[in-house]
Amino acid sequence: MTTAIRLNRVSLKYMTEKGEVHAVNSVDLAIEQGEFVGIVGPSGSGKSTLLSLIAGLLLPTSGRVEVFGQEVRGPSSQSAYMLQQDCLLEWRTIEGNALLGLEIMGRVSAEKRLTTVTLLNEYGLEEFRHLYPRQLSGGMRQRVALVRTLATEPAICLLDEPFSALDYTSRLTLQNDVSTILRKSGKTCVLVTHDIPEAIAMCDRVIVLTNRPGRVKWNLPIELSAGEKQPLLRRRAPEFGKYFNRIWEEMELSVATEKTS
Ligand code: ADP
Ligand code: MG
Repeated sequence: MTTAIRLNRVSLKYMTEKGEVHAVNSVDLAIEQGEFVGIVGPSGSGKSTLLSLIAGLLLPTSGRVEVFGQEVRGPSSQSAYMLQQDCLLEWRTIEGNALLGLEIMGRVSAEKRLTTVTLLNEYGLEEFRHLYPRQLSGGMRQRVALVRTLATEPAICLLDEPFSALDYTSRLTLQNDVSTILRKSGKTCVLVTHDIPEAIAMCDRVIVLTNRPGRVKWNLPIELSAGEKQPLLRRRAPEFGKYFNRIWEEMELSVATEKTS
């Protein structure tokens, strides 16, 4: 197996006017190629910071981040983000938005354009190609954002609470679609979420962080007996509730520890 992401004793301190904010503390983590890993933890525990470190948008204060065996020294096209806000440009068509990432990288070609349109078709956006973002529902807009991300052919997808702005049913549907799309493409994915059932439904493994400064508190492989990968079906697995309770207890415990210290 190839290790896609490796964090070795990674710490990050933000320097602010009021002093240092120790966001991430000595995190060790290895994620294999093709794995779908969830990161959950209290608000402010450094989840988004960890994604920025993997993406090379931030460099660690100490420790080392590697992507496919190479030290991360800055942003690279190997990693791509999907965020809570879809960040679509309202004045561009759906196709124009889907091509944006490639355009920014100066990589638009007839071939890439064709691949992007094929992705749009594949993800049910064919008839919306020439429409504008405001004409689409929140869930559809997020699909466009996903196509924009995948069009640049990143090896690693970093998802930072991408479903949290959606209503409940759109969220469940999109979790299912995004998971199916990403698993089919064989990408290595890291999903940050505060939604425990979402992490269990979508991921092969869930990592629980402590309160700030975030450390890896627990690493829990999710093995549902049905062996199912589709989130909507995984939610029906008999062990689902057991995993929920275990993670919930682990997160509560980290809060209790903080209070007494
Ligand atoms: P999470 O995503 O788990 O909610 P973050 O990674 O966003 O947590 O933030 C971790 C901690 O670092 C928080 O206490 C947050 O306030 C702080 N922080 C995040 N970004 C900055 C920044 N640019 N400057 C200073 N502090 C920051
Ligand atoms: Mg965050």
